[in-house]
This record gives sequence, structure tokens and C-alpha cells, in this order.
Amino acid sequence: MSDCLFCKIIAGEVPSKKLYEDELCYAFYDIDPQAPTHFLVVPKAHIPGPHAVTEENAAAVGHIYAVIAKLAAELGLENGYRVVANDGPDGGQTVGHLHFHVLAGRSLAWPPG
Ligand code: 5GP
Ligand code: ZN
Repeated sequence: MSDCLFCKIIAGEVPSKKLYEDELCYAFYDIDPQAPTHFLVVPKAHIPGPHAVTEENAAAVGHIYAVIAKLAAELGLENGYRVVANDGPDGGQTVGHLHFHVLAGRSLAWPPG
């Protein structure tokens, strides 16, 4: 989508600190980290958010979880991490392209605010 920030990041039109990329997904560090390690993994296809995941596009989501597990191992996150996908205003979503936050490096509170 031409006016989508994360589509622009995937296309290299907006700079990002890239962590990983393959044919289905792109991973990059969050510009405003909420934990010592905070990166985002997004599908290359423009999916507006968790609410727009369907049987037809869900393979990218499963793939992203496998990529997250691999990146977490590579980054040495053996103490654990949290994967978060926000949806809509009440979910706190601010960018309308499905993204999975990966937060690690400190003990994270539960429940979230
Ligand atoms: P959301 O609030 O939609 O769940 O998460 C959006 C995330 O994108 C936020 O954590 C925010 O810091 C991050 N973000 C927003 N704009 C940029 C940007 O231009 N570059 C990067 N790397 N992250 C961004
Ligand atoms: Zn997009």
C-alpha cells in the first residue's frame, strides 16, 4: 500500500535497522524501544492488522512465529520474550500493517495496561 509506513520500510523507502528478511517477512528494530530488546516482524504482504488474518493469508503468520523463535535464539533471548500484536484503537495499534512486537531483556508486567 503506497501510504503505509511499514510497506515503505519493507520497500526501503523509509530507513530501518533491519534484523532479518526473507520472501514472506521483514524484521527491524522498533524506533521507540519499550524493552532492552524490541523489534518488529511484519509480513511483506499488506495485511491491515490481526483482524484481517484469514485462512488465505495465515501462512505468513505461522512463518513469522518460526522466524521469531529463530531470531530469539540467535539473539540469546533464553530468559524469554513476549510477542504482541495490537489491533485497532482499543488494542493500541498505531500502524495499520500487521506487526508482531518482540520484547525482551527485562521482566515484563502482566496484565498489560
Ligand atoms: P503499534 O502501536 O501499532 O502496536 O506499534 C507500532 C510500532 O511501530 C511502535 O512501537 C512504534 O514505535 C513503531 N514505529 C513507528 N514508526 C516507526 C518507524 O518509522 N520506524 C520504526 N523502526 N518503528 C516505528
Ligand atoms: Zn503496509
